[in-house]
Amino acid sequence: MTQTVLSTAPAPVTAPLPQAFLAALKSALPGIATPVGLHEPVFTGNERAYVQQCLDSGWVSYNGAFGLKFEEMLTDLTGAGACAAVVSGTVAIEMALRVIGVQAGDEVLSPSLTFVATNNAIAHVGAIPHFIDSEMHSLGIDVAKLADHLDDIAELTPDGPRNRLTGRRLAAILPMHCFGHPVDMDALLAVAERWRLPVIEDAAESLGSTYRGRPCGSLAPIACLSFNGNKVVTTGGGGAILTRDPVLGQRLRFLTSTAKTPHPFEFIHEEVGWNYRLPNLNAALGCAMLETLPERLAAKRALQARYEVAFAGTHRFAMLREPDYAKSNYWLMAAVLSPEDAGERDTILKATHEAGYMCRALWRLNHTLPMFSASPRMPLDVAEAIQPRIINLPSAPQLFNPKSA
Ligand SMILES: *Cc1c(COP(=O)(O)O)cnc(C)c1O
Repeated sequence: MTQTVLSTAPAPVTAPLPQAFLAALKSALPGIATPVGLHEPVFTGNERAYVQQCLDSGWVSYNGAFGLKFEEMLTDLTGAGACAAVVSGTVAIEMALRVIGVQAGDEVLSPSLTFVATNNAIAHVGAIPHFIDSEMHSLGIDVAKLADHLDDIAELTPDGPRNRLTGRRLAAILPMHCFGHPVDMDALLAVAERWRLPVIEDAAESLGSTYRGRPCGSLAPIACLSFNGNKVVTTGGGGAILTRDPVLGQRLRFLTSTAKTPHPFEFIHEEVGWNYRLPNLNAALGCAMLETLPERLAAKRALQARYEVAFAGTHRFAMLREPDYAKSNYWLMAAVLSPEDAGERDTILKATHEAGYMCRALWRLNHTLPMFSASPRMPLDVAEAIQPRIINLPSAPQLFNPKSA
């Protein structure tokens, strides 16, 4: 029997998809022993010495030299005007929302395609996420769609923009730089200005990334970082609020340390504060990790380059890459399946896990989570189309093995 090939479809992968995926993954990680986590921290610098110094000094809690040093290092790295280090990225966002005046019953424009912390923080201040669609290149907020959507649903009133459909105040935009790939911030800030909407960057994933040469965390008047265990810099757990405004920075440090007015022997509190200050012990770890950040970022770029080679050569999957206008920290690296193969995602994930590679599915879109199911939204077509196609790959810098070609 003869066979005539008339199809113009791309050349099929000869092995079944999960095996082809696994082979590509393995070829990018030569000499790396399994199990391999998604993003395990590595401590190669002064971490032990600084933590030991903390213990020796007795300054393990909220006051101490490492806390101040850590904040200074973060403002130096990002070019922000001031910094308040806090106990998590989630509370960093919560406090940023509070100090710009977001109130219970307000709506905050935010992506559905994000880690749940972004939208949890909005809920923590009693506000309501209003979900905006994402675009394919950065996976962040689609600014053109945001602009059209505001034209459709918003009106400018004397006390700011309002959602005409719900009657609620639109209080802020909260863009998130997904996996370290910056949102197109110039375009976003122009839309924000037109609508008089404050912008907070959720830069939790993007420390070390730049947008048109400017560091993430300094692109909006206020920005938030996370130092959770799997981020590029970890303090065990922690976060920070960055701002251009030193007075606001001072206010944030005050509010997050129980709003205590300095006094040699009295406890003076004149407003409700929060116990959110990052302990010195955690900051010590953070200082050491910041010192070695450039090397880790370089290793992560090299690992991404290796994945790009390994995942090239078939039309069935490709690597997500930084947008042209940006240099990403490549926090989490991601393979994108072809639209036809989205249904195979879980089979691939099962195969990689069985082989000891802890790849992950993308977060569930936040508008599909029960607590946000009633939140207002625009059509989320791109987020819905891309979500089942993404597989995060092991992305820690120590997985780049320089000894293997
Ligand atoms: C990690 C992260 C946060 C903050 O998380 P914490 O665990 O509270 O530090 C916020 N937003 C995004 C997008 C994140 O990835």
